[in-house]
Formats: sequence, C-alpha cells, structure tokens
Amino acid sequence: MIGIFRDWWRKKAVERIQVGDEAWAAAEARLPFLGHLSADERQRLRDMAREFLADKEWSGARGLALTAEMQLSITLQACLLVLNLGLEHYRGWVGIVVYPGDFVIPRQVMDEDGIVHEYDDEVMGEAWEGGPVLVSWFDRPEDADGVNVVIHEFAHKLDMENGAVDGVPRLPAGMSREEWRHAFEPAFDDFCARVDSGEDTFLDPYGAEHPAEFFAVMSEAFFETPDVLRDEYPAVYEQLKRFYRQDPLQRAG
Ligand SMILES: [Zn+2]
Repeated sequence: MIGIFRDWWRKKAVERIQVGDEAWAAAEARLPFLGHLSADERQRLRDMAREFLADKEWSGARGLALTAEMQLSITLQACLLVLNLGLEHYRGWVGIVVYPGDFVIPRQVMDEDGIVHEYDDEVMGEAWEGGPVLVSWFDRPEDADGVNVVIHEFAHKLDMENGAVDGVPRLPAGMSREEWRHAFEPAFDDFCARVDSGEDTFLDPYGAEHPAEFFAVMSEAFFETPDVLRDEYPAVYEQLKRFYRQDPLQRAG
C-alpha cells in the first residue's frame, strides 16, 4: 500500500515539473556534447530529467541563487550517464548543493606519527556516499578548466553503488571485473607515467591521482571527447561503452 501511494505521489511530483521547450533548448545549447543525441534519446533524456528534478532537493551554497537554467544543466548531464541504465542508480540520497565556482572543504589527515594535520582542500565538486553531491557552477563553462564537474561527480556516485570508491562500479551481467581491470589498469599506469614525466596530456591529469579519479575523468572524456578517449585508450572506451550502454562516437558519426 505504501508503495502504491509513493508511486502516485511521485507521479504527481513529476507532473508538477513543467519545463518549456525554450528552457530545455537553452540548457541543451550549453552542452554541445548533447548535440549528437537522436530525437528519441533527447526526449528520453528530458523525461528522465523531469523525474530527477522532482526527486532531488536543491540548494545553493555561499549565497548562490539557484536558477532553473543551472538546475536543468546539471540535471541533463547527470541523467546523460544513466540514460540507458535508469534513474534507480541515483536513488537513496536527495541533496544537490551548488556552489558559485570552486570551494574549499576542510580536511584532516593523520601522518605516520599519529599527528593530525588540517588543511583546506580546494575542489570543484564532491560526492558523498549515501549523501549529497556538491558541484561548482560556472556561468561560462570554459572557466571550469576543461573539467566536467557534473559528469565527474555522478560517475563517482555510480562507483559508490557497490561500496568501495575504487574505479570499478557495479558491473551489469555480461561484464566482468577481470576484463574491466585488463582495460583500466594498464591505461591508468600509462597515464600516471605520462603525467609524471611532465607530458601536457589532453585528458585531465587529475585522473592520475587514483583509479577512482581515473574512472571519473575517463567518463568525462567518454561523453565529451569520445574520439580522444578511443584513440588514447581504446580498451577503456570499449568497457565504458558497454557499461553506460551508449556509443557517443557512433552517435557523433
Ligand atoms: Zn573526483
């Protein structure tokens, strides 16, 4: 009974979310990588986005006044990852906190001698397990240093679904952790070596920080610059294609 009521309530909540064609078009225009979606995919993405908007609780941090454009833009990108996987991958938490530009998270680390050091970590986003997603908003996307913070943080959310944030999300039937590792580990090692040698990599060098960051950065590339990813790490592209059940390169023709 509770389930039926919840479904009814949810349907009502989604129906209340009305977005005009112009608003959709304006938000999509900010995201050139959506340009390759077919008419059917675009419609499915919009339908999913309305559900996502109804599901989540939004807040602006540091006095940021949230606008519909910000919410639509963040929502479309978050939903792009799960377009063929389903919104249930984002259930179990509700908060999205938007910051005006990058922000600082106070952290503590304990060194070998057991002494705790405190420092401020300047970040563009953060995803908490079972908790909210924090993202920066840049009025001009080019101010984000080539980083797609929304795709990045929501890729972390998918990584967290099976517990450890280790760069291996919960894989669907037909995919194996072995194959995943065979594709990702050599690519990660190669990428770390290139970054360490001082190479100016096209893919965000932040991916060399940890296998989890590598997965998030490769996911950004998969959707935004699939040609670069396919050329540099074809096996990673292949695994992401199977995981996300999308082929952005084919779409781009
Ligand atoms: Zn990250």
